[in-house]
Amino acid sequence: MGIGDAVVLNDPIAGQGSNCASKGVHLLTARIAEREGPFDAAWMEAVFAEHWERDARWITAFSNLFLEPIGPAAQEILLAASRVPALADEFFEAFNNPQDLWPWIEDPKGARRHIAERTGRPWIATAASARFAVLRGKLAQALRRGAPAVG
Ligand SMILES: Cc1cc2nc3c(=O)[nH]c(=O)nc-3n(C[C@H](O)[C@H](O)[C@H](O)COP(=O)(O)OP(=O)(O)OC[C@H]3O[C@@H](n4cnc5c(N)ncnc54)[C@H](O)[C@@H]3O)c2cc1C
Repeated sequence: MGIGDAVVLNDPIAGQGSNCASKGVHLLTARIAEREGPFDAAWMEAVFAEHWERDARWITAFSNLFLEPIGPAAQEILLAASRVPALADEFFEAFNNPQDLWPWIEDPKGARRHIAERTGRPWIATAASARFAVLRGKLAQALRRGAPAVG
């Protein structure tokens, strides 16, 4: 029976490897304790399939989210999170349970609906204020770079 990196190996970019391994071990020990039949190949495959569906596939998708060019839904969520602490908290909480971000983290319409639900106002208002804040930050940075040295 495989556990940890031996069966689910992700890029460490999102710090999910031990998270995944410990969730797998937790499930495995529970299934061992309750098992009355043999610990045969079919049982091992069923336990792994349960681990994959429950946690590992979301952990893998979450890790890959950080590796690939960011998709439009995740981009909108992160922009909104830069303005709305509740959305930022929710995103960081997903490091514990990545599945909580699905399906809307990969679905632009779902992401917009989610932002509107969390903020209680049209998503476009949050999107506009986040983009304005980014532009303001970039402008301030450019002005600082262009400013003559003091002293
Ligand atoms: C750079 C980096 C950063 C990471 N950051 C994070 C993080 O922030 N959060 C997080 O959750 N995860 C992180 N991970 C992933 C995490 O370290 C792994 O997912 C986790 O350690 C996997 O545990 P494991 O027990 O499956 O394997 P391992 O920790 O690799 O343990 C396997 C052990 O088996 C031993 N071994 C190998 N072959 C044999 C043999 N033939 N006989 C006896 N012993 C053997 C090895 O020496 C090793 O001690 C990171 C990984 C890397 C590389």
